[in-house]
Amino acid sequence: MALTFRRSWSDPDLDQYRDTVVRFIEEHMLPGDEAARHRGHVGHELWRQAGQTGLLCTDIPEQWGGAGGDFRHEAVFYEEMARRSLTGLNASVHTIVAHYLLNHGTDAQRQRYLPRLVSGECVGAIAMTEPGTGSDLQGIRTRAERSGAGYVINGSKTFISNGFLAGLVLVVAKTDPTQGARGLSMFIVDTADCPGYRVGRVLDKMGLKAQDTSELFFDDVAVGPEQLLGGREGQGFFQLMADLPYERLIIGVTALAAMEGAYQARWTTCASARPSVRAWPISRTPASSWPRSPPRSPWAAPSSTAAWKTWWPAGSTPPPPPWPSSGVPKRRAGWWTPACSCSAATAT
Ligand SMILES: Cc1cc2nc3c(=O)[nH]c(=O)nc-3n(C[C@H](O)[C@H](O)[C@H](O)COP(=O)(O)OP(=O)(O)OC[C@H]3O[C@@H](n4cnc5c(N)ncnc54)[C@H](O)[C@@H]3O)c2cc1C
Repeated sequence: MALTFRRSWSDPDLDQYRDTVVRFIEEHMLPGDEAARHRGHVGHELWRQAGQTGLLCTDIPEQWGGAGGDFRHEAVFYEEMARRSLTGLNASVHTIVAHYLLNHGTDAQRQRYLPRLVSGECVGAIAMTEPGTGSDLQGIRTRAERSGAGYVINGSKTFISNGFLAGLVLVVAKTDPTQGARGLSMFIVDTADCPGYRVGRVLDKMGLKAQDTSELFFDDVAVGPEQLLGGREGQGFFQLMADLPYERLIIGVTALAAMEGAYQARWTTCASARPSVRAWPISRTPASSWPRSPPRSPWAAPSSTAAWKTWWPAGSTPPPPPWPSSGVPKRRAGWWTPACSCSAATAT
């Protein structure tokens, strides 16, 4: 039985949009996910299909080629992918890139790039992290030095989401190493026919297997002055700070939906399990009934037969504890599901 997680912020139009998203996911994304996990990316075709269906950059105004929706439309797409553990098409980073252009770009930059991001013709990535620099952005070493009217970029980046497929990379580089945060600028690098630009390895990660998180290299990459985001040097750090809350919001939406997906998967497993297991609250269900290896939370186990009995609703007959009646309970790691406030019995 499916769980319903209807959002307070939804409305009939949005429900209809959610149906479109689910149909797209089931027809175009789920069937290819296994192959994408092996390959390490989803391929350009899926991006284009998502664009044609109107699922990309939905909160970008129509003036710039977007759907003119709002963040709820974005959230619906992220939620439906996260609930199904589909991580390959990183639409959130793609949208974040669109928002940098929308909020900080010049009109010419918006006009040139936003429609291409909306259509999925061009995949967006943002390159901040370097092999030696993550959280401390001011420590980045990638340089953009003036050369004639434009700049020459040299440096390397790592852990860049959408890096393998990216057609547009926003690169954070130092334009003035003496100025700290004020010495950082962002550049729009159009990766097609871009001498000196090279994609390195698609990184083999613990998770997010279908997502192309990559190394990028910039060897004397020449960009014109029109490629400087917003047209003013030294604004990179402030542009990043301004848009981080939007990024954080996406992480929250996605994390919540992923938890709901896990709950739903658990419920489905429970519903098809034998009746004695089905009746157990989720927090007390032995991990042996999980389809895959369970999370390890030995601390969730009761420590004695008496404690085991107090776990069950008053008036019910507790099943025998899962250890020999004469023995001391064994707290084996991995034996229990994590404590969870939800009860399978109350799920509708
Ligand atoms: C799947 C994935 C996708 C990514 N996608 C992108 C992307 O698209 N673009 C991009 O630019 N980067 C991307 N990154 C990189 C990510 O932004 C960095 O991993 C992150 O900034 C942290 O940097 P770091 O890994 O070097 O860790 P570090 O900066 O070395 O931090 C290590 C630990 O130390 C803590 N720490 C660091 N500094 C301090 C401090 N001053 N005080 C207290 N604690 C501190 C951190 O919180 C962290 O727990 C991605 C990473 C992953 C894993």
